[in-house]
Amino acid sequence: MRCEDVTGILLEYDGGGLPPPRRGRVEHHLEACATCAAYANTYTAVQDLVQEALAVELSQADQADLDMALQTAIRRTA
Ligand SMILES: [Zn+2]
Repeated sequence: MRCEDVTGILLEYDGGGLPPPRRGRVEHHLEACATCAAYANTYTAVQDLVQEALAVELSQADQADLDMALQTAIRRTA
């Protein structure tokens, strides 16, 4: 498996959607290749950050501000 093969399927690999034979080959490559391992780590860290950001719950005041800003923006474009 080449580096470009690994980087191309990291999304599937990270999401656990890769079938075991391919998953094993990716893991094998990541153990042997520092470049792809670093890339995979960064990729996972970014995924975690995005998930954390999406999990943040807005307070009612923030939600109201956001609604107001969105409505204003929508009215401007309408
Ligand atoms: Zn590699």
